Amino acid sequence: MTSPHPQDDRRLAVDGEAFFFEMGPIRPPSEGNDHSLLIRTTRNCSWNQCEFCATYRGEKFGYRQVKDIKKDIDVARAVQEELQNAAAARGRAGWITQDVIRTVWSSNPQLYGEETGNLTLKWQNLHNVAHWLAAGARTVFLQDADALIMRTPGLLEVLNYLTSAFPTVERVTAYARSRSCRRKSLAELLELRQARLLRLHVGLESGCNAVLERMKKGVTAREQVEGGQKVVVAGISLCNYLMPGLGGKELSERHARDSAAVLTEINPDFIRLRSLALRRHSPLLTQAREGLFTELSEDEVVAEIGLLISLLQCDAYLVSDQMANLLYAVEGQLPGDKEKMLQVIDAYLQKPEPERLAFRLRQRWRSFLAVYGSLPAPLEQRVQEAWDALRQEAPEARDRVDAAIAALKEGFV
Ligand code: SF4
Repeated sequence: MTSPHPQDDRRLAVDGEAFFFEMGPIRPPSEGNDHSLLIRTTRNCSWNQCEFCATYRGEKFGYRQVKDIKKDIDVARAVQEELQNAAAARGRAGWITQDVIRTVWSSNPQLYGEETGNLTLKWQNLHNVAHWLAAGARTVFLQDADALIMRTPGLLEVLNYLTSAFPTVERVTAYARSRSCRRKSLAELLELRQARLLRLHVGLESGCNAVLERMKKGVTAREQVEGGQKVVVAGISLCNYLMPGLGGKELSERHARDSAAVLTEINPDFIRLRSLALRRHSPLLTQAREGLFTELSEDEVVAEIGLLISLLQCDAYLVSDQMANLLYAVEGQLPGDKEKMLQVIDAYLQKPEPERLAFRLRQRWRSFLAVYGSLPAPLEQRVQEAWDALRQEAPEARDRVDAAIAALKEGFV
């Protein structure tokens, strides 16, 4: 049988721009842990109106042609071969190490030299493929915000090409909007699953219609239930994201109650909490500064999560692994671990205030450092002032800590 992939991959590797494969800005935290290969099927977000979201702000949505996505897959395969050859030549049982990455980078100036364009993208390509290979080359994540918006025949062609190019791939995953899930027929979803699209990450953010409308999410709670249930029936693993704090002071309780009801109806495999952080360039940050949105305090968000969990009646695995969450330890299999998770929340809320303040500041500071490595000087100073106020038990300690945390969270991804 003739391979669908060009044999002359080396030509791709010296073909200027054609060598690089596109990469979008984000992927779910779990796909980072799995070191998924990132393949961009669409660019940015077709909706791009959610008030709390700044990820694709100012970026234009675009479909990508199937032939271009396939070319990206070819390029990823060429990078894979290059890394594997270098690993074999360095005699470390074929392991992909930092040394191997550096060897590939430095031994091919024709490709990785400055004159051939975007150095950052080339470095990201090389790192992504290297980490993916080192982790067993088992998972692929389709970027950007909603791969299911593609027409099914095109998406199937991409999936088939992908799994044929990389036979080690066991699972392909993607972000999808509830509306796109709902729009696909069950037969289409089954076909996609057959082609190894085995998990969808869907951002519900809230199950409360008032919150969804206020945040311009562009979907109703009913549509979310219908879209989610269809994915579950098709046997595709479903990971639903929920955003504690998104209702603000006014809608907090309804947000928790209605979200618990929607998640209970959908019964996804995973619920991932991604607490609200007012991010730089998001409309919601401006609204909060103008007094049009009242943010919950961090402790109120924690209490809201407690209410949500107490009301959930489903079998999902709940995770708090996103940097915007305060209590990463709130994690477990429902319904069995419900009490354990509520105890984590109670234990935090019962701590004396100075301890809670110190915990929050430390946690947010570490999360920021984990992404950026260091703090810009003005932020560093703000955090230092908050620590000083805490140590001196100054009356303004709480305000200082809150202000420092708010500034740190603007940079959260
Ligand atoms: S939250 Fe998702 S759907 Fe909303 S604008 Fe951002 S990427 Fe698009």
